[in-house]
Amino acid sequence: MNKLETLEHYFGHSSFRPLQEEVVDAILEKQDVLMILPTGGGKSLCYQLPTLLMEGITVVVSPLLALMHDQVVALKANGISAAMLSSMQNLEESQEIEAQLRAGEIKLLYVAPERLTNAYFLNLLHQLPINFFVIDEAHCVSEWGHEFRENYRRLSLLKEQFATTPIAAFTATATKAVEQDIAANLGLQNPKRVRGSLFRENLTINARHRIKDGRVQLMEFLKLYTNESGIIYTLSRKSTEAIAHFLQTKGIEARAYHAGLPTEEKNATYADFVADRVQVVVATIAFGMGIDKSNIRFVVHMTMPKTLENFYQEIGRAGRDGLEAETLLLFSAQDIVQQKMFIEDLPESPYKEHAFNKLDSMVRFANSENCRHQSIAAYFDDRIEACVKLCDNCTAPQSEKVDITTAARMLLSTILRTGQNFGLHYVIDVLKGSKEQRVLQNEHDKLSVYGIGEEYSKSQWLTIGDKLLERGAVEIGEFKVYKLTAFGVEVIKGAHKIDLKKERLTVQKAAAKKKVTYFDDYDVEVYDKLRDLRTQIATANNIPPYIVFSDKTLKDLSAKQPQSKEEMLDVHGIGEVKFERYGEAFLGVLQKS
Ligand code: ADP
Repeated sequence: MNKLETLEHYFGHSSFRPLQEEVVDAILEKQDVLMILPTGGGKSLCYQLPTLLMEGITVVVSPLLALMHDQVVALKANGISAAMLSSMQNLEESQEIEAQLRAGEIKLLYVAPERLTNAYFLNLLHQLPINFFVIDEAHCVSEWGHEFRENYRRLSLLKEQFATTPIAAFTATATKAVEQDIAANLGLQNPKRVRGSLFRENLTINARHRIKDGRVQLMEFLKLYTNESGIIYTLSRKSTEAIAHFLQTKGIEARAYHAGLPTEEKNATYADFVADRVQVVVATIAFGMGIDKSNIRFVVHMTMPKTLENFYQEIGRAGRDGLEAETLLLFSAQDIVQQKMFIEDLPESPYKEHAFNKLDSMVRFANSENCRHQSIAAYFDDRIEACVKLCDNCTAPQSEKVDITTAARMLLSTILRTGQNFGLHYVIDVLKGSKEQRVLQNEHDKLSVYGIGEEYSKSQWLTIGDKLLERGAVEIGEFKVYKLTAFGVEVIKGAHKIDLKKERLTVQKAAAKKKVTYFDDYDVEVYDKLRDLRTQIATANNIPPYIVFSDKTLKDLSAKQPQSKEEMLDVHGIGEVKFERYGEAFLGVLQKS
């Protein structure tokens, strides 16, 4: 078989995506490779396909067991022999895999990086015909990156011990500095460098200032996604549970996921989410790395992530099937304070120094009024045109500004007059003339500022407080006490004007948006029948539904409604192997429809 036949036969695709073929060719020519391509761009195919055309075994280093496991399952479903060696296998299973490797029965072997420091394993590798090594999530090699892993650093031993075996390294996120670092640390020799555009043309990106706890905004957003899969990220374990509970009370099938939960519960949630039994997972970042669920339609951040790399990776989990997906970032100035505290607590290291700069970039991005896609691309040293219609900044009409200087001065005066000893909520209570006992006890009802803030609601005052934090008019001290900065003092004196986007003072109603149909004339009824069949097959085989067929394949099937094998092979994602496994069953349903 040649390249294209292999592509069709094993993967069911009729053509390569831009850049894939370049990488495949470089690997076939035994060149080192460094590929940077966004999530969903199709990196795995770039190494899974060439090994099928080469003698020998490909060793894939990957940081996460769940990720490896999913890849192995997906490969086997496509009729490709793959295995993984990790702490998940017991001795007997490992021995079995070793025997298969020696017998030449495995094409792709997935391992965690620490395995490569194991003398027994290295010795085994030396006895096997390794055609090339793959380093997945290669940014973990770099201290400049956002996810440095100590045991990735040791991968330099590959070139020391296997000098003539090529290495192909892949990552979704790397600035030019990180790219250099990867190449240097792995000792790549004159590698073929392939950098894809980071533009995700099926992703709509939105960022908004959070109003109070953001739940009203969240519900507005979720209205557009009834019964669709999504991930909601929050910062703390406690808030994952609180929000999951809140969503359940609204009738949404939601679950919390964080590192503190028992393993069985986490696994069950993961499996239920992948199998579409749970609609929404509310998670800390512990969830999602390496998740291979292709039909995630939305990702929401309830607070600001600490870096743009994290943000880009997390939103990247949406829409891997290429269909439209949407993301929403809710943030407030308080998030920034919190993230800074986290960084302060890190042990001294070069990583810590970078962390502050990375946070600043994230903050600039959130507050920016530029095209979101363009801003992300620029951060990764990529220049693209403005998206025009795929982010809030490009689609929003020039937002109207309101002058809040007077309100700002009121708030700042109240902070000053209460002695710069209180948190924002308390200050607002005073402004709004609260009869809270604490206010009365402190005799703050006697101040001239007491009750002058009736004009705005509490949540509007919180927003004004946020704006002052963003502008650097206040800072937060110990115990969340608000204090004025020198700039804040100038604002009180009337030396500066403070503007606010008008929309920030009102909860945004989501624009009446029609549901998207992905294929013009796909038949919903047929689609539902096919989906039922997919669920049955998946359950019977104990595999996730998307391994049988992706949503995109189902939609294409219900649009084209093939009636024969030939017609079916024309459908997105169906090759010979998939047809052999599931083709007849689906044809059965289609012929009856
Ligand atoms: P990455 O590893 O870059 O995140 P994947 O390898 O998971 O991306 O691929 C993302 C999706 O793109 C998968 O659903 C895959 O089937 C699809 N895909 C990859 N290559 C092609 C291709 N040449 N034609 C059509 N779809 C493709």
